[in-house]
Amino acid sequence: MKQATSRDIPKPGKKKQPAAQPDEEKRPLFRAQILRLAACNYFPALDEGVKELIDSLIRVSHGDQDHAERIVNRALQNSPNCPTPYGFEVVASEVPRVTAPRGCEKCEGTGFHYVTKLTRDPITGDSYEADCQERCDCELGRFLAAREVERKQMERSA
Ligand SMILES: [Zn+2]
Repeated sequence: MKQATSRDIPKPGKKKQPAAQPDEEKRPLFRAQILRLAACNYFPALDEGVKELIDSLIRVSHGDQDHAERIVNRALQNSPNCPTPYGFEVVASEVPRVTAPRGCEKCEGTGFHYVTKLTRDPITGDSYEADCQERCDCELGRFLAAREVERKQMERSA
């Protein structure tokens, strides 16, 4: 028979309850990517099918949201048809995973830093100092700049 207090004392060797999956919180973001495929032929009509595609996208992108977006971009460009879970494996194998470089001290790892610039008010003509956000010139800043160019090209070709 169990004692009331035994619940509070972890048994030696017993594994802790696993924390909530971080993927569950990010799931709506992957769902949003899958819904972009609604533009394609053979998009699943049933929620069960959509769920399978979301699971598949999370798996093939290793839960990397940025990678998932690029996989869906590729799927949209590759074929007029919505990929199957198997098809996602194939598409994902063609899309390399890119990990963002670390930022530097200047941008504190964000890729952006603030500079104070002398700005002229267009109406009054008065000059004043304003904090402007600028892309950092470190590796991360250049990486983000390249991604932005890539994204604009995608938008233009879409
Ligand atoms: Zn930096």
